[in-house]
Amino acid sequence: MQRYSVFAIAREAARHHTGWQRAWRDAAPKSRYDVVIVGAGGHGLATAFYLGRNFGITNVAVIDKGWLGGGNTGRNTTIIRSNYLQDSSAAIYERSRDLYETLSHELNYNVMFSPRGVMMLAQTEHELRGYQRTAHANALQGVETEIIGPERVKQLCPIMNIDGPRYPVLGALWQPRAGTARHDAVAWGYARACSDMGMDIIQNCEVTGIRSEGGRVSGVSTTKGEIACDKLGMVVAGHSGVLAEMAGFRLPIESVALQALVSEPIKPCMDVVVMANTVHGYLSQSDKGEMVIGGGTDGFVNYTQRGSFHHVEETVRALVETFPMLSRLKMLRQWGGIVDITGDRSPVLSKTPLEGCFINAGWGTGGFKAIPGSGWGFAELMARGHSPLCDEFGLERFREGRFIDESVAAGVAH
Ligand SMILES: Cc1cc2nc3c(=O)[nH]c(=O)nc-3n(C[C@H](O)[C@H](O)[C@H](O)COP(=O)(O)OP(=O)(O)OC[C@H]3O[C@@H](n4cnc5c(N)ncnc54)[C@H](O)[C@@H]3O)c2cc1C
Repeated sequence: MQRYSVFAIAREAARHHTGWQRAWRDAAPKSRYDVVIVGAGGHGLATAFYLGRNFGITNVAVIDKGWLGGGNTGRNTTIIRSNYLQDSSAAIYERSRDLYETLSHELNYNVMFSPRGVMMLAQTEHELRGYQRTAHANALQGVETEIIGPERVKQLCPIMNIDGPRYPVLGALWQPRAGTARHDAVAWGYARACSDMGMDIIQNCEVTGIRSEGGRVSGVSTTKGEIACDKLGMVVAGHSGVLAEMAGFRLPIESVALQALVSEPIKPCMDVVVMANTVHGYLSQSDKGEMVIGGGTDGFVNYTQRGSFHHVEETVRALVETFPMLSRLKMLRQWGGIVDITGDRSPVLSKTPLEGCFINAGWGTGGFKAIPGSGWGFAELMARGHSPLCDEFGLERFREGRFIDESVAAGVAH
C-alpha cells in the first residue's frame, strides 16, 4: 500500500498528482472464502480489518449490494461518545472511543477524529436526575464525564439560549473527550487497509440467499454468483431482518428511517456537539461550516432511505427555542437512513441458530460511534467463538429477559 504522508503529498504535487494509486481494489468474487461479511458499512469493514489485524484471517470478502459506506455509515451525523448507563455498553462504546483516538495512525488514513466534547442538555428536572445517575455510573466505569451547570453550558456554547420560556437549560452531562469524525473516511480507511491485507471488497453485489448444509452455513447466493464460505457475518443494519429471514430465523428488531439535515455553511460559531433529548434534536457544526442537525425516527416501520419535509419542520421547531440563530438559516440538504432498533436500544453481537453464521446488528440510531469497538469485538467473536466485549449482547438475552436497557442514553437519535 502506498503510504500517505506529507512527503507523499509533496512528491505527488511535484508530478501533478499522477502517481496516486487506487485506495482499494474493486474485486470480483472468488468461489470460496474463509469468511464472508455481508455489508460494507463501517461495522462490516471494521470486522474484516480486525479479523486480519488481530487474528491473521485474511481470506475474507466484504460484500455490499451498493457502494461501500453508502448505508448508514455515510448518512449519519458522526457523533462519537461513550456516556452510556450499563457496564457492558460503556465497555464497548468506550473501547470504541478510545480506538478512534488513534485510528488515523492505525489506518494511515485521516478519519478527522475531533474530540471537541459532547454535551447532553438537561431541560427538565427528571432529565437532570437521569444524567446524574449516568455520571455516577460513568465514574465507576472509568468513563470521563461530569455534570455541568447552565453557566458552564453557556460558556462552552455561547450561541445557546439557556433561559428559554418552555425548556430552560438546567445543566448538562458533559463528555470532554467525545466528539465527531468524518464518516466516509472511517469506511474508506478501513476499506483501504482491508484491501491492503488481500481481502476482497465486492461492491454492487447483493446477497439474495444464504446456503446451509446440516444446520451449518455453507455460503451465500449473490447477484454475482454463488460464494462458499466457512463463516458468515451479517452486518447490514436496517436490512438485518431481511438477511435473518434468508438464514431461517427472526430478529427482535424493527427497521425505520432516521433523518438528518444540514444548513447552509456559515462562519464558525459552535465548537462542541449539543444534544437536546427533551425537545428532540441535536446540533454540531461541520468543518465546512454547515450546521449538522439530527432529527428523529419515523413513527412507523419502513425501508425508505430518504428525508421528508415534516421532519425538517419538527426538528428545527424543537431546537429553535434553545438555538434562536437557526431561525435565520436556510436549510440545504436532508436525507434518511434505515436504522435497526431493538427493544432495549442495545446492539446484537451474536451467534445465530445457524452454525457458523454470526450477526452484528441493532445499533439503531447510534452505531457510528461504535464502529471500531464493534469491529474489534465481533472479529474476536467470529474467530474464537466468544468475546468479552460482545458476550452480553447475545440474542439469547431477549429470550431470557436480560435486557441491557439504554433507552435513556439512546433517548435522542444520534
Ligand atoms: C440520519 C442518521 C444519523 C445518525 N447519526 C449518528 C450519530 O451521530 N452517531 C452515531 O454513533 N450513529 C449515528 N447513526 C447510526 C449509524 O449511522 C449506524 O448505526 C451505523 O452507521 C451502522 O453501520 P453499519 O455498518 O452497521 O451499517 P451500514 O453502514 O448501513 O451498512 C450496511 C450495509 O449493508 C448493505 N446491505 C444491506 N443488505 C444487503 C444485501 N442483501 N447484500 C449485500 N449488502 C447489503 C447496505 O448496502 C449497507 O451498505 C445515524 C444514522 C442515521 C441514519
